[in-house]
Amino acid sequence: MKRDKTISEHSGAEKMLNDLSHRRRAPLAGLVLLLLLYVGTYVMTVITSRNQGVIMLFGNPAPIASFTGVFSMLGIFCTIFLVLLYGRLGFIASLTVLLVQLPMLLVQIFKMHNMASVPGLFSNFLAVLVVNLIYRNDRNTRKYQTRLREQALTDQLTGLPNKFACSELINSLVARREPFAVVCIDLNHFKSINNTMGRSTGNRVLVEIADRWKKGLGSKKTGTLDFIACQGGVEYTLIIRNYDSDADIRNTIAYYNDVLEEKLTLDNCDYYITASYGYAEYPEDTEDGDTLLTYAFTALYEGKRTSNRVCRFTPDILQTEQTLEIERKIRLALERKTLCFYLQPQFDISHKLRGFEALARLKDEDGKFISPAQFIPVAEKAGLIDQIDRRVFQDSALFLGNLIKRTGTDLTLSVNVSARHLMRNDFLQEVRDIVKTCDFPVKDLEIEITESVMIDSAEEALNCINSVKQMGARIALDDFGTGYSSLSYLNTFPADILKVDKSFIDKMNSSDSSKQYVAAIISIGHIMNFDVISEGVEEPEQLDTLRSIGCDYIQGYIWGRPLPPDEAEALVLRSVAA
Ligand code: C2E
Ligand code: CA
Ligand code: CA
Repeated sequence: MKRDKTISEHSGAEKMLNDLSHRRRAPLAGLVLLLLLYVGTYVMTVITSRNQGVIMLFGNPAPIASFTGVFSMLGIFCTIFLVLLYGRLGFIASLTVLLVQLPMLLVQIFKMHNMASVPGLFSNFLAVLVVNLIYRNDRNTRKYQTRLREQALTDQLTGLPNKFACSELINSLVARREPFAVVCIDLNHFKSINNTMGRSTGNRVLVEIADRWKKGLGSKKTGTLDFIACQGGVEYTLIIRNYDSDADIRNTIAYYNDVLEEKLTLDNCDYYITASYGYAEYPEDTEDGDTLLTYAFTALYEGKRTSNRVCRFTPDILQTEQTLEIERKIRLALERKTLCFYLQPQFDISHKLRGFEALARLKDEDGKFISPAQFIPVAEKAGLIDQIDRRVFQDSALFLGNLIKRTGTDLTLSVNVSARHLMRNDFLQEVRDIVKTCDFPVKDLEIEITESVMIDSAEEALNCINSVKQMGARIALDDFGTGYSSLSYLNTFPADILKVDKSFIDKMNSSDSSKQYVAAIISIGHIMNFDVISEGVEEPEQLDTLRSIGCDYIQGYIWGRPLPPDEAEALVLRSVAA
């Protein structure tokens, strides 16, 4: 890791990178032990080779001299282990003991004419050869492994630590519970350099930037412990430690930004590079390393969106990002016409099919449904709700219109219309157009609106509602009881049906007063000539109660969940046949 020495030393990541790139050495005491063992085996070789005695082994006499080979072999094993466990040091140690032994053997053979030492001489030569071969082989393997590890930790172009090294450092800091900040850096408009000057010039600029940062890291001018890694492309991560305040983090970022923004000249061309920064802190923002990186990226992109060069992560940003993501998905679904509708059946109290409420359905790219509770409010804020309403209205009217014609049955289609949509000047014309193009019987159309339409511009809303009614359609007052329900406006409100909100149905059987409350709503509805439909009925007990207090219609999982069109069609065909 020579290239990164300045970075790793300054950043304190040295240990981590070393841990990753070097094999652990066995303790030095082991080396001394192996050497002593070797000397012991050598002494035993000499003693046993000269001993004429015999010992009893498994009941048979065995000459002591025959154990010489065993001790000689053990000695060779010691030298091999020395090389394998201690690399170069072990190699020198084992070679030294083997070479020291050589003249002693030669003296034994040639001076003292002790021919019993001849096999020892051969073993010695062989051991030198084997130790040499093992050492060379091991050295090459280690070199190769080190190179591989280095490559795995280093960005090939810039020589900066890479994504993997960065997440290793983050994980080790998290494991030590050491506070730090993760800063995601993105070079602004770098694509234009690649496009105008070519990729190789772009790469040279990136190398120059990395070199400047490396020098910056080495200078230790920030007063904090810093580490910069390349995440790939033109995205980098700066990890800051040993800071006291947010100001310290911003100072460190400002330092690397200044280094970056100094004029860069290549082949007589000047380049002015700028970057955007987003950061998050451990453990304040999250205690999870991966999430921290995601938060820093989120802050970076929020900063880019709001032209804020250095942006700190806040939970609000996450909310904004999620909202933007949902908005993007809605736009995409509208554009690709993938927004679809489900139909939830409504029944009269005797379980006869009355019709369906059309409900918008939005799928993720990976096919998962996003809940309307999530995307409808986003669509309302982004001004996309009328497009959703229109699409659902149009598609469901076409589908159910055909089914009504085919089966000859009367089925109500309830469509949700948001306040914003209802107030559009062209709303009435839109209803007329859809009814006409889909050839949908207008008497079977029911428009669901909530009380909120009455809050802002009651008169306009009333005019619009009356015009819809004049066309022959019905009006349902959705989520009744949750808003600003007041008897006085209900008296003048030209609705045809009240939809009692699920929250009342949920509570209905838990207390007598809740039951009385629903009973009162139903009675008042009837006095004012409205039909009443209860939403979100799930339990048989709720059904029994609603029946006993005179509810007209039921919409809920107990008799039917929202269905895809083909299943709704099957339900209609079954009910016609019954
Ligand atoms: P909503 O108009 O009150 O629709 C009824 C919601 O209650 C639906 O949820 C339906 O699936 C759910 N529901 C019905 N019966 C049961 C039940 O027994 N148990 C439970 N737990 N839930 C039940 P969904 O489809 O998630 O829609 C949520 C809301 O989104 C709707 O409430 C409506 O306000 C809005 N929405 C859906 N589609 C559209 C649309 O096309 N345009 C507009 N403007 N709003 C829509
Ligand atoms: Ca509704
Ligand atoms: Ca409702």
